[in-house]
Amino acid sequence: MRALSLLLALFVANLLFSAACLWLLGRSLKLSRLSFVRFLGAWLALFLGGVIAPAVVSTVLVSAIIRPYCCEAFRIRANSMAPTLVDEHRVAVCPRCGGQLILPLPPPGVRHPAPEEGICCACLRTSTVDASDGPIAPADRVILDKQYEPARWDLVIFNVSDEFTDGHVKFAKRVVGMPGEKVFIEDGRIHVNGKPIDLPAALHGLQYVAFPDAEFGSRETPWRLGTGEYCLLGDFSNRAKDSRFLGPVSRDDILGVITARYWPPARWKVFK
Ligand SMILES: [Zn+2]
Repeated sequence: MRALSLLLALFVANLLFSAACLWLLGRSLKLSRLSFVRFLGAWLALFLGGVIAPAVVSTVLVSAIIRPYCCEAFRIRANSMAPTLVDEHRVAVCPRCGGQLILPLPPPGVRHPAPEEGICCACLRTSTVDASDGPIAPADRVILDKQYEPARWDLVIFNVSDEFTDGHVKFAKRVVGMPGEKVFIEDGRIHVNGKPIDLPAALHGLQYVAFPDAEFGSRETPWRLGTGEYCLLGDFSNRAKDSRFLGPVSRDDILGVITARYWPPARWKVFK
């Protein structure tokens, strides 16, 4: 959470600036001799120093420094990264382990034929169950830290060109392949430079899928990642629109690394 320290420093700087405004304006009041002027001046000082100055400074800090270089909050708008990051969804019981199965919602106006495919929060395996008509659970909200360089298995948010976006221009995915590597999927596992690599313990059970109709992903059509290019995949591999279809993603399009999931509170988690 490198961004937090920068955020804290900016907050303290803002407080000091406001205090300085109040002190300077309060000091200038001593030059006034009329009590009416003092009264007006005091209110002006309070208004400028206590409200306007911090608001202006905060706006400038957020738009010029915090959002471009420090951190930004995002709402997750797809279930392609479920169960790690979820959009609105329904919940069922995983037939494999009894855990919580995330069921994506059908698009507006479309009724998915039962049964539906979901992915389990506990065993990370997909299962097909009868469609749920239970309550809709909320989408996750996350903090994106712009101080980190993406590393393998990091969660990132990146810009996607319009032809793929369905109205959303920023996707969340996981870094699977790094610059300079040759990467493909086989038997559910990621292979880097010809060898299968192990998933981190937290992702044990996750299966990646090489779609025959996708442009990339198989041994025959691997990603050959150039300088500054990454392979980004969704955890819910059967449903993700990721580097299998989008191709390698340039570092310039990666906005930052997701370091925390802060909403809903029950799903609070620090990733990095
Ligand atoms: Zn399960």
